[in-house]
Amino acid sequence: MAAEMNNGARLRRLRGRLLDWYARHKRDLPWRRTRDPYRIWISEVMLQQTRVAAVIPYYERFLDRFPDVGALAEAPEQRLLAAWSGLGYYSRARNLQKAARAIVELRRFPRDYDSLRALAGIGDYTASAVASIAFGLPHPVLDGNVLRVLSRLTAERGSIQSQAVRQRLRETAGRLLDAKRPGEFNQALMELGATVCLPKRPLCGQCPVSRYCEARRQGQQNELPVNAVRPTPRRIEKQLLLIEQDGKVLLWQRPADSRRLAGFWELPERQQVPSAEVQESVARFRHTIVNTVYVVQVLRAAVQRIPRGFGWKSRKILERLPLSTTAKKALARPLGR
Ligand code: SF4
Repeated sequence: MAAEMNNGARLRRLRGRLLDWYARHKRDLPWRRTRDPYRIWISEVMLQQTRVAAVIPYYERFLDRFPDVGALAEAPEQRLLAAWSGLGYYSRARNLQKAARAIVELRRFPRDYDSLRALAGIGDYTASAVASIAFGLPHPVLDGNVLRVLSRLTAERGSIQSQAVRQRLRETAGRLLDAKRPGEFNQALMELGATVCLPKRPLCGQCPVSRYCEARRQGQQNELPVNAVRPTPRRIEKQLLLIEQDGKVLLWQRPADSRRLAGFWELPERQQVPSAEVQESVARFRHTIVNTVYVVQVLRAAVQRIPRGFGWKSRKILERLPLSTTAKKALARPLGR
């Protein structure tokens, strides 16, 4: 297939089949109903590290609160973080606001790859996605889905973690790109990876480009792509206390200079309130951050006196507070018994 990627007629047929399939089978997602670069940018940033189904409600709520670049640039930080709370990787929200302020200074949304790439939090992928989808510029995108599809189409044997392999696949993506419809084409390739060319057991029988796929021809589609071995995740046990009184929950706020999650509200950990009287265990869940798995147990408890640094917050206003994801998950359990 690598050599075939230089065969113009074959490439045109492959593009045509992929674009036809995309037109008929694409999922109806809110950010696909717009060419507004602001909305496309927000969706692309949210979709980094987060699944589509999880992003949709956040995306809609976020745009209700911050419908344009100006509203985002002016938002108070606590309001911004509250809107992002639960999506994780909070530097993404802070960078969005930095970039929004820069765009307000520029007085217009940047319209080319280099000006987009110069904004806070925008890397190769996001710059290419916004440039191609919002402005129709010919920049190929390379996300996890695209890497997988391309490594199978070309039967790439090197690890997709390797820079040399990524560069090779980037060049392939550039040759494959439909220069007239780059935004549609990039989305089609990502959609193929997300819905058909799945990481485990790709659905080759439903694939519009199976006849061009070298991995399938060789019966290697389940073996590719090659991934460098990831280190075993670290496991950390945590106990959080759910202390409630008159519809209020006991919380603490991370200081502004905290290394992680500065300004976010948290449930107390057990060792922070040694005098708490534990009554029962009400929930247990896992929360994964990069290579660490937190196993969190939520304990209902009571205290005689509020320890220093903690405060009661009404359940009614929790939605407006930036809560850490673990606090949010713990509070989402059916606890108000
Ligand atoms: Fe992926 Fe199978 Fe299509 Fe090849 S034929 S691109 S392995 S779904």
